[in-house]
Amino acid sequence: MDAPIPTLAQAARALAAREVSSVELTRACLTRIEQLDSTLNAFITVDADRALQTAAVSDQARARGEAGPLAGIPMAIKDLFCTEGLRTTCASRMLENFIPPYESTVTARLRAAGAVILGKTNMDEFAMGSSNETSYFGPVRNPWDTSRTPGGSSGGSAAAVAAGLCVAAIGTDTGGSIRQPAAMTGITGLKPTYGRVSRFGMIAFASSLDQAGPMTRDIRDAAMLLQVMAGHDPLDSTSIDTPVPDYVAALDRPVREWRIGVPEEYFSTGLHPEARAAIETALEVYRGLGAVIVPVSLPYTQHAIPTYYIIAPAEASSNLARYDGIRFGHRCDQPKDLKDLYARTRAEGFGPEVKRRIMLGTYVLSSGYYDAYYRKAQRVRRLIADDFSRAFRDHELSVILTPTAPECAFQLGEKNQDPVSMYLSDIFTINVNLAGLPALSLPCGFDAAGLPIGFQLIGRPLDESAILTMGHAYQQASDWHTVTPGISS
Ligand code: GLN
Repeated sequence: MDAPIPTLAQAARALAAREVSSVELTRACLTRIEQLDSTLNAFITVDADRALQTAAVSDQARARGEAGPLAGIPMAIKDLFCTEGLRTTCASRMLENFIPPYESTVTARLRAAGAVILGKTNMDEFAMGSSNETSYFGPVRNPWDTSRTPGGSSGGSAAAVAAGLCVAAIGTDTGGSIRQPAAMTGITGLKPTYGRVSRFGMIAFASSLDQAGPMTRDIRDAAMLLQVMAGHDPLDSTSIDTPVPDYVAALDRPVREWRIGVPEEYFSTGLHPEARAAIETALEVYRGLGAVIVPVSLPYTQHAIPTYYIIAPAEASSNLARYDGIRFGHRCDQPKDLKDLYARTRAEGFGPEVKRRIMLGTYVLSSGYYDAYYRKAQRVRRLIADDFSRAFRDHELSVILTPTAPECAFQLGEKNQDPVSMYLSDIFTINVNLAGLPALSLPCGFDAAGLPIGFQLIGRPLDESAILTMGHAYQQASDWHTVTPGISS
């Protein structure tokens, strides 16, 4: 079926040609949200009045001949970017009523480029999860099959893009939270190189892994958004101070003789046969475009999950220490003393997965276990990063191609009692965060039940252009990204 809401590139063209106004486009999105979001639960907060005001201001500015690159484009933002004056919950009871006094750099840049922010999307609590089921505000449903998860943690943004509740959305990815839900909802999701996009004003989960990125209907839209989001920010000390290339201009390069590494470890165990078949067909498409497929090995792949589940909880336990009931967020009623205040505030404010991570993290950082777990995990992290640099260098690769997720969208409730099986959902994405590399997921087919399948392209550090070029070449040769779910209210 025809998508009810245009892509970003289509919307930008229609707005520029005055075929549609931003108010009309924003209203169309708000109507879709009204019709479908009671089913999908993709939004925690819808900011309808302010969105319509911004859209009207954008239309007036355009009439005066002023229009930024995203002028008038209605977008959705994962609810962990601080938005001044607009509730930001991180899908946690702890921040249920938190109204930030400042704006994140990402949302500030989007606003400065003219974007209209429709609202804040649902997610796993503090971005911890792979199915959106850890949200205090209830799970998100997958628009392709509402009995299933859209993936996580950026499941609200993914569902909102897939179902056409917005033109595009922003997510964050610490271990796969943009790419895995993108794969499970049939959209395009890009995690930039660590440091490419500012983390200022993004509520921290694991600071050495977190990155923000676009979630869109296609690669061109992802390039257009990254263009606005990327760049040095003095407010984030890990932000990289290097020029931002023209991502959109890089899209149409021919990929003839580009070398695609395919790591055997990602195709051995756990990969669903239908996903494998779809990805093999995608490789054929690349062969047809003249790319060279190179088998490679990334031998430390199997250590990624245990490494991540030491480092990420360690950083989370430290980051989440700030929620003490004193400075902001939830506070328990009538504490007996300071200790009671801390203990009850945190017991009431955090959900079970967040508590599990805090306990794990505190344990691996404690003096008796630091060397055995945390320090060792840091060493293995380096070996995982070296695996990638060696493969890129020795085989002169432009990109590496892998599956995004081992299986398609699973049923709500299927894995949430079994944390380890949930953690395995990110087996193909986590390595990339540990190595700090850019990667994106794009759709390449459907399984027999009609659920989307995605594959992942991984690039060299700061070479977002290569994965965007490769992704675009595929989308020029295929039309999986144009199929949208036939969800109705
Ligand atoms: N699913 C992984 C986790 O639970 C990754 C989450 C993320 O990328 N934010 O930690």
